[in-house]
Amino acid sequence: MLNNKFGWYLISCIFLFEGVASFLGYKVYFKYSGGWKNVGYDYSLYITIAGLIIGYYAYNLKEKPQKHTKCPTCKETFNYNELENGKCPYCKDVDTVDIEEYYKQYPKERDDK
Ligand SMILES: [Zn+2]
Repeated sequence: MLNNKFGWYLISCIFLFEGVASFLGYKVYFKYSGGWKNVGYDYSLYITIAGLIIGYYAYNLKEKPQKHTKCPTCKETFNYNELENGKCPYCKDVDTVDIEEYYKQYPKERDDK
């Protein structure tokens, strides 16, 4: 679900906001402990740091570009991001090939389609 940068940035912002707000003495809403509460500075700090870590994570999260690969054995086309190490899930230990590369290697198959 949260594989996109925006989602993580949003969570980071919520944490930072809550951290700063609670640090300034505002009540912070806790979904799991039943509502609005005042928290200690240690907890404010904890939320703020968590927010920073999540923000840092979001910053470093690279949005994977869509990349399609094709299995030379079963001729199935895949989204590379869904594969494990680029291996074909149907054929054991067969590396899928980048679709552009694939058609360079097998130009005939492109014509067939
Ligand atoms: Zn295959």
